[in-house]
Amino acid sequence: MAKITNPFDIYKLLPQTNCGDCSLPNCLAFAAAVIKGRKKLADCPYIKSEDKEHLASRIGIKEDFSRARGDNLDMLKSRIGDIDFSTKAALLGAQIVSGKLAVKSLGKDFLIDSKGNVTSECHTHAWMTVPLLSYIAHSNGADITGRWVPFRELKDGSPMNPLFVQRGEKPLKKLIDRNSELLGDLISMFSGERADNRLFSSDIALSLYPLPKLPVLICYWKPEGDMGSDLNIFFDASAEKHLQIESLFSLGVGLVMMFEKIARKHS
Ligand code: SF4
Repeated sequence: MAKITNPFDIYKLLPQTNCGDCSLPNCLAFAAAVIKGRKKLADCPYIKSEDKEHLASRIGIKEDFSRARGDNLDMLKSRIGDIDFSTKAALLGAQIVSGKLAVKSLGKDFLIDSKGNVTSECHTHAWMTVPLLSYIAHSNGADITGRWVPFRELKDGSPMNPLFVQRGEKPLKKLIDRNSELLGDLISMFSGERADNRLFSSDIALSLYPLPKLPVLICYWKPEGDMGSDLNIFFDASAEKHLQIESLFSLGVGLVMMFEKIARKHS
């Protein structure tokens, strides 16, 4: 049987809840760590035992440990301690509030202390914590370019794109197919902006700011004749200067999961 060397083959079998019980920030980081031999399948208590047995014999460990990314939550937190908040605030489009770094996400302030602890007046979602800390640790402060690119065109985005479509764009399209008012609600809930519909000739376009210098654009095309509806999520071309591709994936999919939760509550 063919060996598994692609983390996405493992990721597909994970619960994808990003609960952090494996001590990694999300399921994708866990899948990558398994492939690299830094984690065992048994470290996720939620994989079905039959999947564990089936997978264990097929995993090909890559010997490249040097590519370990700064995606471990503890590692990210420890990096925050070395950062000069006042210098970084200007670069990131953030502010200093009572000695903490205040970063706006979807119109709400998230406060980060020198130990990397994140607090907010709204519920702090686990999916948001890692991209937020990665943004502080890795962003070079690049300005927004105004040029929108699909996920597959971002650096290293192509191999992850099928999963991004499956976990992000398709579920969001279904959600809007069922409730076309949702996009309008998201604008008011999350300080979004209507974007020019002529962008990509879409019927509805809205931009949101999950991080101050990292906007996303959601374009929706209504069904027409024999053509079904369609939806794409775009990132500003500078996105890869702020976050690594795994964090951009978590950010996009995390947003969609949050929208699904909101839609369920209001249905
Ligand atoms: S323990 Fe890790 S891999 Fe398992 S569901 Fe939670 S975050 Fe995902």
